[in-house]
Order: sequence, then structure tokens, then C-alpha cells
Amino acid sequence: MSGARLVLASHNKGKLRELRAMIAEQAPELDVDSLVVDAAAAGAPDVAETGVTFEENARLKAEAIAQETGLAALADDSGLCVDVLGGAPGFLSARWSGRHGDDEANLRLLLAQLADVPDGHRAGGFECRAALAVPGAETAVTQGSFRGVILREPRGEGGFGYDPILQPDGREESAAELDPAEKNRLSHRGAAMRAMMPRILEVLKA
Ligand code: IMP
Repeated sequence: MSGARLVLASHNKGKLRELRAMIAEQAPELDVDSLVVDAAAAGAPDVAETGVTFEENARLKAEAIAQETGLAALADDSGLCVDVLGGAPGFLSARWSGRHGDDEANLRLLLAQLADVPDGHRAGGFECRAALAVPGAETAVTQGSFRGVILREPRGEGGFGYDPILQPDGREESAAELDPAEKNRLSHRGAAMRAMMPRILEVLKA
């Protein structure tokens, strides 16, 4: 932990992998492996997501972990919003089936709920709010979206969560069939992180 400057305020392995890759790509000259630690490695607890919006939950996680560790903390709150369901699962995406983090059960339940929704009415997409909490400074929040249509069956082995059932606009593949770098270039998390990157680099280079 010594020498670490930034904690990634998440216990989600898929998110952590993507966040690390994005920071490493933007800062190839820095030793990101030692400057950036995961919440678990920093001994930070899982933060209860008691907010009802992505922004509230992103702020909650980043600020709680910055306070706990005394380091800058970067959180991402994200989820899948389906238009015909009024934006659900939304902030409940990670626990849609009732079991937090059970990606397969969450995705299966959503597909069953959409079984009778015809093609042409299956638009939706991922939303992300990133929050960077730095002790003694205002928390910064950025955002990104990744729109497409909800497929009828999962496709692809890459990514995580609901990636196998989102076909991004303008693409033939599902998000789980995209090369990881290509997903990061197009995704909600990629957009939110690019907008946050100048502040992240300030923290890492401080
Ligand atoms: P959070 O940890 O509360 O932000 O939960 C995010 C949930 O949204 C995850 O468990 C995934 O199910 C879903 N999610 C967020 N981003 C992605 C993504 O990039 N691909 C697939 N699913 C995602």
C-alpha cells in the first residue's frame, strides 16, 4: 500500500479490470500497478449503496473510501437502463434478481421480463457516473452512456455483467464480443473515465 495515491472504490472484478486498463493506457509513463490499489487491497469495506441514482451511489462509494483510507478514491456506479421498462434495472442492476453481483441470474431475469417486447422496442443502454473524491477537495463527477438494443439471447464470452445482451448501436457484435480495448473506446465507463482523466492524472502525479 505504501506509495499508493488512488484507491479504486469497487469490489467488482470486471469494473476493476477495465478501470486499470484505462488508467494504464492514459499514463504509460507511470507505475500504475503501485500507484493505484483496489478497495480490497486497501482494506476498504464494501460500501452500502443506499442512494437511488448512479450519481448518489458513485459519490457515496468514493467519499466513504477516501475518508476511510485518507487517499483519493475513484468510484463508478453504473447499470443497464431499458427504455420500455422506464430505465430499469438502472441503479438496481447489480441486484436485479435479488442476489447482489449474480450476473447470470440478473441477466436471465431481465431477458424473461422482456420476452414479449417486440424488436423495435428493445432500445436501452449502459449509464455510468464516475466520482473522484480527494480528501480536502470537492468531489468531481463525470458521466457516459453506451446505447444499443437488448438481444433475446446472450452472445459472447468477454466483458462482464449484461455485456452479452447489449448490441451497441451501429455494431453487429454484442458488447461481450467486442475486443476489450474497443469496448473501452465505445463504452459508458470509457467516456466517464476520459472526462475524469485530467483529474486522475493530477492525483497520480502529485
Ligand atoms: P454497481 O457496482 O452498483 O455500479 O453495479 C453495476 C452493475 O451494472 C454490474 O453488476 C453490472 O451488472 C452492470 N454493469 C455496469 N457496467 C457494465 C458493463 O460495462 N457491462 C455489463 N454490465 C455492466
